[in-house]
Amino acid sequence: MSHTKKAPKPEEIEAARHDPRLRRAHETRRSDPEWRMRGRCVAVDPETFFPDPQVKQSPRAALAVCSACAVQSTCLAWALDAGDCNGVWGGTTPGERKAMVVAWRDFVPVG
Ligand code: SF4
Repeated sequence: MSHTKKAPKPEEIEAARHDPRLRRAHETRRSDPEWRMRGRCVAVDPETFFPDPQVKQSPRAALAVCSACAVQSTCLAWALDAGDCNGVWGGTTPGERKAMVVAWRDFVPVG
Protein backbone atom coordinates (compact mmCIF):
# COMPACT_ATOMS: atom_id res chain seq x y z
CA MET A 1 0.00 0.00 0.00
CA SER A 2 1.29 3.43 -0.82
CA HIS A 3 0.24 7.04 -1.08
CA THR A 4 2.26 7.39 -4.28
CA LYS A 5 -0.08 5.78 -6.79
CA LYS A 6 0.20 8.41 -9.50
CA ALA A 7 2.42 7.15 -12.32
CA PRO A 8 5.58 9.14 -12.98
CA LYS A 9 5.78 11.15 -16.19
CA PRO A 10 8.15 10.03 -18.98
CA GLU A 11 10.38 13.05 -18.42
CA GLU A 12 10.61 12.24 -14.70
CA ILE A 13 11.68 8.68 -15.53
CA GLU A 14 14.26 9.96 -17.99
CA ALA A 15 15.63 12.36 -15.38
CA ALA A 16 15.83 9.50 -12.89
CA ARG A 17 17.92 7.46 -15.34
CA HIS A 18 20.57 10.18 -15.10
CA ASP A 19 20.34 10.59 -11.34
CA PRO A 20 23.81 9.79 -9.92
CA ARG A 21 22.12 8.14 -6.95
CA LEU A 22 20.94 5.35 -9.26
CA ARG A 23 24.46 4.68 -10.48
CA ARG A 24 25.78 4.59 -6.92
CA ALA A 25 22.94 2.29 -5.90
CA HIS A 26 23.74 -0.01 -8.80
CA GLU A 27 27.41 -0.11 -7.83
CA THR A 28 26.72 -0.93 -4.19
CA ARG A 29 23.78 -3.29 -4.59
CA ARG A 30 24.03 -6.27 -2.23
CA SER A 31 22.05 -9.49 -1.99
CA ASP A 32 22.95 -10.20 1.64
CA PRO A 33 21.30 -8.16 4.42
CA GLU A 34 24.51 -7.46 6.37
CA TRP A 35 24.49 -3.80 5.30
CA ARG A 36 21.43 -3.16 7.42
CA MET A 37 23.43 -3.54 10.60
CA ARG A 38 25.68 -0.72 9.45
CA GLY A 39 22.86 1.74 8.86
CA ARG A 40 22.65 4.78 11.11
CA CYS A 41 18.98 4.01 11.60
CA VAL A 42 19.70 0.97 13.79
CA ALA A 43 19.94 3.40 16.70
CA VAL A 44 16.90 5.48 15.73
CA ASP A 45 13.19 4.93 16.37
CA PRO A 46 11.89 3.13 13.23
CA GLU A 47 8.80 5.37 13.28
CA THR A 48 11.06 8.23 12.24
CA PHE A 49 11.41 6.60 8.83
CA PHE A 50 7.70 6.23 8.25
CA PRO A 51 6.24 9.73 8.53
CA ASP A 52 2.49 9.71 7.99
CA PRO A 53 1.62 11.73 4.86
CA GLN A 54 -2.04 11.79 5.92
CA VAL A 55 -1.13 14.14 8.75
CA LYS A 56 1.67 15.81 6.81
CA GLN A 57 4.49 14.48 8.97
CA SER A 58 7.82 15.60 7.59
CA PRO A 59 10.49 13.12 6.43
CA ARG A 60 13.18 15.68 7.32
CA ALA A 61 14.44 13.91 10.45
CA ALA A 62 14.82 10.61 8.61
CA LEU A 63 16.51 12.24 5.64
CA ALA A 64 18.99 13.88 7.99
CA VAL A 65 19.91 10.50 9.46
CA CYS A 66 20.28 8.96 6.00
CA SER A 67 22.42 11.82 4.74
CA ALA A 68 25.37 10.68 6.88
CA CYS A 69 24.77 6.95 6.55
CA ALA A 70 27.61 4.78 5.22
CA VAL A 71 25.25 2.37 3.45
CA GLN A 72 22.92 4.92 1.91
CA SER A 73 23.40 3.73 -1.68
CA THR A 74 23.02 0.06 -0.81
CA CYS A 75 19.88 0.93 1.10
CA LEU A 76 18.50 2.81 -1.89
CA ALA A 77 19.23 -0.20 -4.12
CA TRP A 78 17.30 -2.38 -1.71
CA ALA A 79 14.30 -0.03 -1.80
CA LEU A 80 14.38 0.17 -5.59
CA ASP A 81 14.52 -3.62 -5.83
CA ALA A 82 11.58 -3.77 -3.44
CA GLY A 83 9.62 -1.44 -5.73
CA ASP A 84 6.66 0.50 -4.43
CA CYS A 85 7.50 0.63 -0.72
CA ASN A 86 6.68 3.09 2.00
CA GLY A 87 9.05 5.01 4.18
CA VAL A 88 12.37 6.75 3.83
CA TRP A 89 15.09 4.45 2.48
CA GLY A 90 18.51 5.39 1.22
CA GLY A 91 17.84 9.07 1.74
CA THR A 92 14.75 9.13 -0.46
CA THR A 93 11.04 9.46 0.12
CA PRO A 94 8.45 7.23 -1.61
CA GLY A 95 7.52 10.19 -3.81
CA GLU A 96 11.12 10.69 -4.91
CA ARG A 97 11.46 6.99 -5.69
CA LYS A 98 8.44 6.79 -7.99
CA ALA A 99 10.35 7.59 -11.17
CA MET A 100 13.51 5.94 -9.84
CA VAL A 101 11.71 2.61 -9.43
CA VAL A 102 10.64 2.65 -13.09
CA ALA A 103 14.10 3.72 -14.29
CA TRP A 104 15.70 1.04 -12.09
CA ARG A 105 13.88 -1.82 -13.82
CA ASP A 106 16.07 -1.60 -16.90
CA PHE A 107 18.86 0.54 -15.51
CA VAL A 108 22.18 0.23 -17.30
CA PRO A 109 24.93 2.56 -16.09
CA VAL A 110 26.35 4.66 -18.94
CA GLY A 111 30.02 5.50 -19.31
S1 SF4 B 1 20.19 5.13 4.35
FE1 SF4 B 1 18.76 5.71 5.96
S2 SF4 B 1 17.22 4.09 6.02
FE2 SF4 B 1 18.99 3.31 4.87
S3 SF4 B 1 20.28 2.21 6.33
FE3 SF4 B 1 21.01 4.31 6.23
S4 SF4 B 1 19.95 5.46 7.83
FE4 SF4 B 1 18.85 3.54 7.48
